[in-house]
Formats: sequence, C-alpha cells, structure tokens
Amino acid sequence: MCHAYLNNSSFYTFLSLIDRDIAAEVQAAGCPYCGGVLHSARYPRKPRGLRHLLDDSYDTRLSFCCAEDSCRRRTTPPSVRFLGRKVYLSAIIILITALEHGLSTKRRKQLIEALDIWPQTISRWRKWWRAVFPDSHCWQAMRGHFVPPVNAAQVPGALLGRLTGDDLMQRLCHLLRLLIPITTASWSGSLKVIIDPQKM
Ligand SMILES: [Zn+2]
Repeated sequence: MCHAYLNNSSFYTFLSLIDRDIAAEVQAAGCPYCGGVLHSARYPRKPRGLRHLLDDSYDTRLSFCCAEDSCRRRTTPPSVRFLGRKVYLSAIIILITALEHGLSTKRRKQLIEALDIWPQTISRWRKWWRAVFPDSHCWQAMRGHFVPPVNAAQVPGALLGRLTGDDLMQRLCHLLRLLIPITTASWSGSLKVIIDPQKM
C-alpha cells in the first residue's frame, strides 16, 4: 500500500485514543442541554475496509445519554474516526477523495482495491465534499483562516496541501482535527484536545 501508516494498526489505535480523550472532555462538561450527568450510551459501528487493522474500540462510536429523567438527551462527541454515519473511516474518505488529483491512476486504483471501496461510494463522497461540506458551519468557520483562500471545489485535497505537517500523515491528522465539528449533530463547542502525531 502506498501510505504505510494506513496499513499500520498503531495509526488506528492512536485515533481511538484521541476519540477517547475527546469523549472524556465532552462527558466532563456534562449535558449540553441541561448540565446533567452524562452516562455512556455507545452505539454499534461496523466500519468497512481495513477491518483486520482495527481493534474492538472500532465496534462502537462513543456516545452519551443524559441521566436527568426530564432530559435524557443523547450527546455524541465529535470524532476523528467516524465522519457522521459514513461507514468508512474519515481518514480513508479524505485520502481517497484527495488523492484523485495527487496520485497516479495506478496507485489510486491499488489503494481502492485494497480498501474494498465501490466506485459508487467514491462518487457519493465526491458529491458530499462538493455539495454538502462547503455549506457546513465547519467549513464556513475554517475557510477564513486560509490566506489566500482555499478553493472549496478542491477540498479536501487543497486543504491537505495547505495544512502544516512534515508528511501527509501529519497533515491528515491536522485535517481530522479541523473537521471534528462536522462529525456530530448533537454536540457543538470547542475542545482542548490536541492531536500530536509524534505520540503515535
Ligand atoms: Zn440533559
């Protein structure tokens, strides 16, 4: 595979630990609706592609339920692993769509085969980046930080190219961190969690 870290289980363990830290921070702040105590209420996930590299933590998405009887609302923390309900991991969705412009046809084809992705799935992702993402609060909040501006039509590839990092893996981690507001509809706010790929 052309990106060694994609084939390295420590990369996925590293992302799981970040999700755990994010969830701990969200839980500590209490229910965003009433301030009540948040109890664990994970829901099952079955991410596709690379199953053999993923540990048990990938069988669930971390989520909480408010303990207050009058509230009981669900709070799902942002994630650097899961992009909303999409069945492939965020890292894969970013890379495969981004590499459309940067990778040779042959290498991209190899990667897609190794990850067992259908062409229809990739065109859905492309549509999502072009039609849904540019309208998101996440993009609206982040776009102003780039000077000169990043062309929304070339996201995520153009974003990856503009972020800092020694290599593609570091820039990918940076992007996963930037994208977290879009990974949940039931929580918003700012987080202290920092992704340090050196710790992988
Ligand atoms: Zn509540």
